[in-house]
Amino acid sequence: MTPTMLPSSQQARDVAYQLHAYTNARSHQRAGPLIIERGEGPYVFDTAGKRYLDAMAGLWSAGLGFSEKRLIEAAHRQMQILPFYHTFASRSNGPSIALAEKLVKMSPVPMSKVFFTNSGSEANDTVLKLIAYRSNALGQPQRKKVISRLRGYHGVTIGAASLTGFPDNHRSFDLPLPNVMYTGSPHFYKDSRAGESEETFAARRAEELESLIQREGADTIAAFFGEPVMGAGGVIVPPPTYWDKIQRVLKKHSILLVADEVICGFGRTGKMFGCETYNIAPDVIVVSKQLTSSYFPLSAIIMNDYMFEPIADESNKVGLLAHGFTGGGHPVGAAVALENLKLIEERALIANVGRIGAYMQERLRTLVDHPLVGEVRGVGLIAAIELVLDKKRKVAATTPGDVGSIASRLLQERGIIVRNVDDALSICPPLIVNKDQIDELVDGITGMLHDLK
Ligand code: PLP
Repeated sequence: MTPTMLPSSQQARDVAYQLHAYTNARSHQRAGPLIIERGEGPYVFDTAGKRYLDAMAGLWSAGLGFSEKRLIEAAHRQMQILPFYHTFASRSNGPSIALAEKLVKMSPVPMSKVFFTNSGSEANDTVLKLIAYRSNALGQPQRKKVISRLRGYHGVTIGAASLTGFPDNHRSFDLPLPNVMYTGSPHFYKDSRAGESEETFAARRAEELESLIQREGADTIAAFFGEPVMGAGGVIVPPPTYWDKIQRVLKKHSILLVADEVICGFGRTGKMFGCETYNIAPDVIVVSKQLTSSYFPLSAIIMNDYMFEPIADESNKVGLLAHGFTGGGHPVGAAVALENLKLIEERALIANVGRIGAYMQERLRTLVDHPLVGEVRGVGLIAAIELVLDKKRKVAATTPGDVGSIASRLLQERGIIVRNVDDALSICPPLIVNKDQIDELVDGITGMLHDLK
């Protein structure tokens, strides 16, 4: 506890009683938390009343901002009718039925069934289990390996953390699971070779995938997991032909494609789904976060018949699908999601992402001439600024993240919240932002860069 924390303060009590996610527990004991008390549109306010423009929409998730009355009313209404019921053993409830139907019908490719979970991690873990279940149903018990990508983020439960392509999520946790293989990320700025074009880089990534599949044996690989645009890996926007090339390889070897749309889903990239932006035709889509604008924990696995039918057969053979979560298909979460999707349509927020997103990308790209900015990348309302101390060598500091964390702290002092992934400053504001708020954001970043230099 620092001397500035009074013993009975919320800060001191937080340090005393809470272990925080994605936090250095020792530094936290010294520095204490930033406690957010309330929200208004894209802004949040701390306990001292200081206002922050949350240019991360919380955790890439509060699409409708932090004070949407219609979502609160939807939750309140449903709480009064039926505050909870489950979906085990053929039980159901109206909001979960309506939401499953809505998600199937709005999917960018033909889909047929939805399975509800509570978080992105649980959803991806569930997909891993369903994939094994399906392979057993098909009499292909050897087909259990899955491929994900370095820098990909799929969550933190045992299976999902294994899919996540970051050493920190594995080291000291005794992960990953042995059936998860990794292939390279489509990070052109960081991973391309001298003289390589985006096209040849994408072709190389597809060839590397093909080699991995050949090496492991195509008949042992069940699925490939990928985010249309990698979010938590540092907003990695794929080269234009990347997904076409990857899908060609997967198709050739009959490997399922799982699109993790936990960040991209519901407008972030300028279309309803990231799959539409990049012409991806997955067998399974995983959604969460912006599904309820994170007002309620909810995630969903949307699958096609190719995935569903063998699973149905196996459940018939076993007697039941012995998997599910108490809160899966929660009526309050489903009611909030339905209202959230209605508002995205009613307020034409996808068009807003098109218009305001283009403005944000254009303004952010003016920063690329700054000596500390190596690259600005992004699509729709998601972007990253890659900070570098040496533009030629594309490096920021001896320890990755040093410059990024100083930059995000300086921005926080200026009342702007971003998230640094090493030295990439990630930006993912609520879908409701307007032009003035983008100006506030970019002006703040410009000022911060001036202070940093
Ligand atoms: N998948 C993606 C693409 C994510 O960005 C995240 C979280 O950031 C997850 C999965 C995990 O979601 P959750 O934190 O709800 O478990």
